[in-house]
Amino acid sequence: MSTKSKKFLNFLKTTENLIKNKKLHTFKSLLNFIEDKKNSDTDYKILNTQIRTMTMIDLLIRTESLLKGHFELSSGLHSNQYFQCAKLLQYPEYAEKTGKQLAELFDANKIDAVLGPALGGIIIGYETAKALGKKSIFTERKDGIMTLKRGFHINKGDRVIIIEDVITTAKSTMESIKIIESFGGNIAGIGCIVDRSKRQTALKIESLIQIDPEIYTPEECPMCKLGQSIEKPGSRTQVAE
Ligand SMILES: [Zn+2]
Repeated sequence: MSTKSKKFLNFLKTTENLIKNKKLHTFKSLLNFIEDKKNSDTDYKILNTQIRTMTMIDLLIRTESLLKGHFELSSGLHSNQYFQCAKLLQYPEYAEKTGKQLAELFDANKIDAVLGPALGGIIIGYETAKALGKKSIFTERKDGIMTLKRGFHINKGDRVIIIEDVITTAKSTMESIKIIESFGGNIAGIGCIVDRSKRQTALKIESLIQIDPEIYTPEECPMCKLGQSIEKPGSRTQVAE
């Protein structure tokens, strides 16, 4: 076995234990895949994608950005997982590392600017732009409408990538696409840290990790049926008095 493969397997062992201890069963398929590959000669290119995923999982666990349990989402639906990107991005070191990983998915020579829809896309958009050596701009909502303000400008023919923290319905992505196109700019790519779209959008999305959480209506929720206490993450707000 090559040194690369040995190094990779050591890395996997550590991360695998992390995942097992946290019982993140979403990654079962990933673990099965790795189990299959373990004893064969590794296809390093495929495994490289897995390394990226595992590195991300490791970061998400370390920063407690990915929680498992019984959660009420802002939509009112229940889920067995909750993901809060701000918890990962609050550490500049990890934000930078994540931006670098996202930048690797794109070709800097084919990009003029990076656009991150506010709020979620601002920090990670900036870090990705930094790694690509391009300018970083953001769209934001004004009275519910996505806009490009603050003197940001897209030149006709500019190749722009859209970077988000999480993509679920891709609503803000779609709105940002319209803005870029209204300036005569071209969409050079779409990327996010976590892709939760379940490949339900027509967009080609590059992501560091794909997560398909189990989502239920309160009436159908199996965790409710088991009487498990529910958490409402992200709802605790500290107010200055
Ligand atoms: Zn429930």
